[in-house]
Amino acid sequence: MGKPTTTAVSCELPDPDVHILTSGGQHIPAHSSVLASVSPVLESIVDRPYKHRSSEIIITITGVPCHSVSSFVRFLYSSRCTNEELEKFGIHLLALSHVFVIPQLKHRCVKYIGQQLTIEKVVDVLKLASLCDAPDLYVKCMKLISSSFESVQKTQGWKFLQEHDPQFELEILQLIDESESRKKRTRRHRAEQSLYMELSDAMECLEHICTEGCTSVGPYGPEPSMRRGPCNKFHTCQGLQLLIKHFALCEKRVNGGCYRCKSMWQLLRLHSSICNQPDSCGVPLCMQFKLKMQQVKKGDDDVWRVLVRKVIHAKAMSMCSLFFPERKREELRDTIQDARLRNFCS
Ligand SMILES: [Zn+2]
Ligand SMILES: [Zn+2]
Ligand SMILES: [Zn+2]
Repeated sequence: MGKPTTTAVSCELPDPDVHILTSGGQHIPAHSSVLASVSPVLESIVDRPYKHRSSEIIITITGVPCHSVSSFVRFLYSSRCTNEELEKFGIHLLALSHVFVIPQLKHRCVKYIGQQLTIEKVVDVLKLASLCDAPDLYVKCMKLISSSFESVQKTQGWKFLQEHDPQFELEILQLIDESESRKKRTRRHRAEQSLYMELSDAMECLEHICTEGCTSVGPYGPEPSMRRGPCNKFHTCQGLQLLIKHFALCEKRVNGGCYRCKSMWQLLRLHSSICNQPDSCGVPLCMQFKLKMQQVKKGDDDVWRVLVRKVIHAKAMSMCSLFFPERKREELRDTIQDARLRNFCS
């Protein structure tokens, strides 16, 4: 059975036994049974032992406009409130729904206030969201403050905050700062990831060129006409083939080589570091690099070891991409990140 509407109340319910006293001195008659059924806080108030049980119970709700209390009581009876009421008393109804634990009303207020958020109001709403434990609204406010901080600083709300609540001001500034450095970290991380991904692709192409051959470079033995290609990573593969051709012919190579030759050396060394079949490997110098690396003591070349590990990781990620599309991988990575800040930053 649904809750009775206000018009039905007078017909079906007994006489009111509770008076709600508002800040304007207005009395709103109500029924303890209805109040107790919708709010555990009101239930505990009406169930308190009173000295004179026969007299009416008075519940004082001050600190908010009396019309907002009327709207609140109407909601308790009908589970309804109009957009007009939310427009006028949204923040008061949010506070009341939080204090008296009315989740349904709280949800409506959070949604409405979030939709109507403006730069002018955002600081006050943020404070309210923090006091009323409304995380969704809090995150929404922080996003707006962070993206329009210059304008927010000029609002009355911000000036009031600076004068009266420096602690909260500091909290906001810290969150903006964390969000900024987090964005920078994410950008740097993405740039690094794409570099490791390129190296991983280059490793794949190098093996493929040295074992089966691609369009213009291939291993000794098979006829060039037998070579496959262009392969599915042809952009990388073509660049690598040009580099290999240059490496074979460059005259400077003997004296340490030119910068292109040095890149080729590094790629060959990187291959050797991640190659797990040195005995049967077709990539030139693989075994020589392996032997040389065995002579290098642990800790001598930590930077190189990190690079190798990251490329191996990128290779594994690229294998994953065969099974998971790009968005799924992004989601997987995002789930690891701090939910609160992630919501705020994104
Ligand atoms: Zn190729
Ligand atoms: Zn060269
Ligand atoms: Zn190898």
